[in-house]
Amino acid sequence: MTDKASESHESRDDGNPRYELEAEGFLSELDEQYYLNGAGLQEKLELSPIYKKYRHLFSRGVVEDLLGGRETKAGRYLAHFAAFQYLGGSAGALTEQIAEAETAAVVEWDGRSVPYRQAWVLVGGEADRARRLELHERILAVLERQNQRRLARLEQLHGEAKSLGFGDYVRFCDDLTGFNLDRLAAEMTVLLAETKACWQEELARALEDKGVPSGEADVADLRHVLVAPEFDSRFPKAQLIPSLTQTLAGLGIDMATQPNLHLDIEERPLKSPRAFCSPIRVPGDVRLVIMPQGGQDDYSTLFHEAGHAQHFVNTDASAPFPYRCLGDNSVTESYAFVFNLVLQSRDWAEYVSGIDWCPEYARFSRFRQLHYLRRYAAKLCYERELHASEALGSDLSGRYAEVLGGALGVRIAPAAYLSDVDDGFYCACYLRGWMLEVHLRRALVDRFGRRWFASSEAGDFLKGLWALGQELTAEELAQRLGYSGLDADLLIADLIAPPEA
Ligand SMILES: [Zn+2]
Repeated sequence: MTDKASESHESRDDGNPRYELEAEGFLSELDEQYYLNGAGLQEKLELSPIYKKYRHLFSRGVVEDLLGGRETKAGRYLAHFAAFQYLGGSAGALTEQIAEAETAAVVEWDGRSVPYRQAWVLVGGEADRARRLELHERILAVLERQNQRRLARLEQLHGEAKSLGFGDYVRFCDDLTGFNLDRLAAEMTVLLAETKACWQEELARALEDKGVPSGEADVADLRHVLVAPEFDSRFPKAQLIPSLTQTLAGLGIDMATQPNLHLDIEERPLKSPRAFCSPIRVPGDVRLVIMPQGGQDDYSTLFHEAGHAQHFVNTDASAPFPYRCLGDNSVTESYAFVFNLVLQSRDWAEYVSGIDWCPEYARFSRFRQLHYLRRYAAKLCYERELHASEALGSDLSGRYAEVLGGALGVRIAPAAYLSDVDDGFYCACYLRGWMLEVHLRRALVDRFGRRWFASSEAGDFLKGLWALGQELTAEELAQRLGYSGLDADLLIADLIAPPEA
C-alpha cells in the first residue's frame, strides 16, 4: 500500500528544498519543547528562542512570496503554514502575556488559592449545584480580567490578515485552508436543526439525573453532567494500555516493534494528566505520552492521541514536507476520532479484555458526541461573525452567549466570548474530522465487517491511507473511499440513530 501512496503524490517541482528543510526543523524543535514540557521533563516551555532562530522563515517578504505560489496544493499548504506563523509571530508578545497571566491566576476557593486551570476541572467534579455555580462565577471573574489583552491580540491578527491582502480574517482562513466556511456553516446550521430534538431529550434526561431543574441549567451544570464518574469503574487503569495494545494488535500493528513510536507512560510529578501526541519528526520520531489514570475520559483521550500517532508513524517518509507535516488537519483528526469512537462500540468492548460495556454507557457516549458536535457547530457560526466583525465589543459577547446558548440549551456566560475561540478556525478541522470519521468507519465496516479492528487487512487498508500523510484533503479522502465528497448528512444520520442496546 505504501508503494501506491508514493506513486500518487501530485507531481510538483522540487519546491523550495531549503525552506522546507528549515521549516521542518522549526516544527520539530517546537514539538520537542511541547513534549519536554508536557511530559514533565522540563518545567518551562521555551518557545521564544525557537521563534527567534527561525524568524527569517516568516518575514513579510517570504510570506508574500509563498502566498503568491498557492495555486498548487503543496504551495497552498506552505503558504497556509507561513502566513499563520507570520500572524502568530506578530501577536507573540500578547499571546505570551495571556499564557503567563493564566498560569499565574488563582481562584480563591475553600480557603485556598486554586490555580485557574485546575479550578475549571473542579467545576465539572462539584456535585453540589450551589457551590458549582459559585465556583464558576469566580472563574469567570478571573477570565474577564484577561479580555482586554485577548481583544488586543485578536485585533492584531485581524489587522495583519487584512494587511496581507485579504478582505478579513475569515477570508484569510477560508482561502488558505480551502474549507469553504460558508458551505460548512450552512451544513452545520442544518445539523443543529436536525439534531435539536434528540439533544433536548437527552439533555433533559441527563440534567434530571443530576437534580438540575429544567430550564435553569447553566453551562457549569453541563460540564458536571459530562464528567459522568459512574462509568469510570468500567474503564480500569490496569486495562488502559493493554486495551490499546490489543486493539492495534488486532489490526496487525505491534506498538512494541514500531521503532519510530515512543510510548511514554512513566509517572512524573510535572507530567500532563491528559494524554498527548508529539510528532517531533514525521514519521521518524513520534511520542505518545500518557500518565495512566483510568476512567472513560482517560481512555477516550489516549485512543484519540493513538490515532494521531499511528497516522504519523505510518506516513511515507519519502513524501514531500508539505504532505508529511502540513495540509488539512481534518484528516488527522478523523483518524484520531476513528480510534476515539471505537470505545462506544459494543463489538469492541466484547473484543478487548477487561472492559465492561453497558447500554447506558452507549447512550451517554452518544450524548457527549452530540454535545461536541453541537458546541463546535455553534462555535463555527459564532466565530464567523466574530472574525468578520469590525468592532469586537459587547455585541459579540452577547452573540456568543446567544449562539452557544441556543445550540446547547443552557445558560452561557458572555465573558468567555474571546477565550473560547481557537485561532484559524480549528473548530472547522474538528467538524470536518467528525464528518470524515463516519465515512471512514462505514468504509471499514463495509469492507471488513463490524469487527474491523480485529482484521489485519483493515490495518493494511488504514496504513495505506496513513502513508499519504495529509496530501489529500478531507473531501479527496472521502472520494478515495468511494463517496462523492464529504457528506454532512452521514454524520447527522449517525448522530440521531438510536444508541446500541
Ligand atoms: Zn486531535
